[in-house]
Amino acid sequence: MRLSGWQRSALGAMCLVNIGKLSPTFRDASALGRHFAEVWNKSGFIDDYQRAALVAGLACASLADHYRSAGPITLNHFTDLPPLSKDIVIRNPAAFRTGIGPHEIVTTGGSTGETLTLYMHRRRKGAEWYWMSRIWAEVGFDRRRSVRAVLRNHVLRGRMAVFPITKEIAFDNFNLDDAYIDEFSAFIEANGIEYLHAYPSAAAAVGLRWATKGNRPRSLKAVLCGSEFVYPAHRALIEGELGLRLLSWYGHSEKLALAGEYSDCRNYHANPFYGLTEFLDPDMNKAVEPGQVGEIVATGFINPSMALLRYRTGDMAEFLGETCPDCGRLGRAFRMKSGRAGEWIHRRDGSRVSTTALNLHDSQLANVSHLQLFQPVAGEVDVLVVPRAEVSAAMLREIEHAMRARLGADMLVRVRPVDAPQLGRNGKAQLLVRQFEA
Ligand SMILES: [Zn+2]
Repeated sequence: MRLSGWQRSALGAMCLVNIGKLSPTFRDASALGRHFAEVWNKSGFIDDYQRAALVAGLACASLADHYRSAGPITLNHFTDLPPLSKDIVIRNPAAFRTGIGPHEIVTTGGSTGETLTLYMHRRRKGAEWYWMSRIWAEVGFDRRRSVRAVLRNHVLRGRMAVFPITKEIAFDNFNLDDAYIDEFSAFIEANGIEYLHAYPSAAAAVGLRWATKGNRPRSLKAVLCGSEFVYPAHRALIEGELGLRLLSWYGHSEKLALAGEYSDCRNYHANPFYGLTEFLDPDMNKAVEPGQVGEIVATGFINPSMALLRYRTGDMAEFLGETCPDCGRLGRAFRMKSGRAGEWIHRRDGSRVSTTALNLHDSQLANVSHLQLFQPVAGEVDVLVVPRAEVSAAMLREIEHAMRARLGADMLVRVRPVDAPQLGRNGKAQLLVRQFEA
């Protein structure tokens, strides 16, 4: 299908759904807020919306080289589309470009150094900002007024950086020593900042310092934690010891899925207006049943510049149901699992174990602030444990036994305590680091 420039714009506008005549800025968020306030939680509307958004998304996809050759994709055949692996997109991102714009190019580095190039519509920022801040509103965040202290992947030249539009003050996640934590904690309190937005591993490091020194900023209301697995110990520290609400969510750079907690429910609830979120079995054949673990496969609605249909995120989750079994809200509900799809621990005999099979019990992780696996060679694994407080030999032994039970008796398991997790180039603490070519 060939479309004129005008037709492409019209299609793009349809994909961006009624965000009005505002200029393409973060101000789009307000229009979206008015639009969705009336329809939120009405199941008939959500079904109709998802169908219309998918039809628009499929029309956009027919403009991209990767899908054009296959001919028109209809809604009825959507679930026949083979899920798309990230490797294919990394190798040839331009094949997924629709030509609908204006767009900008965003590159994102994974923890292992590969670069993913994304074509992002400039106006997705309004939708992104609205839906993100709506999750944070569960703990009182006001997108017009609230300021966040941020510890994420910013590489800073100085001690901090200020981003006025999104009202964030970024600190350096790569240099979290005690003196620096004390310095920015004093800044947070002096400026009455109410929210810390951090990777869970960073929030845990900062929270540990606050618990030890008794200097948690009194102005803080909540800790906003995205992009990494939240360990039970993170919650115990931030909520139990420090008395702050930890609010977490699931999202990613590709902007295809977004799911958050509510103030009264700690499951993740996939936002049906942001994208279609599926949970597929390991063979990518069918959706898993409620109670089973599957890979999150996502199709986004907010970025018409790039068509990524049924994109495999590699993230694993326990699917809970079409509506949340705990709070009853609409939108597919799930809980994250710590491992990633396609992440393997190699045995000496050539067999391998998925990190998703490692799920330790909450009781085994009760005193663990973070856990990372390093594999120097097949058949050996170093388990680096960041303890919550005092390390006991019994605690390390318990983790060692649990690891051996899952990895098999032939695996050489060494457990040792460390002060902090090692961060990848993207500032996140990866669960498994393999140090040899498999
Ligand atoms: Zn719920």
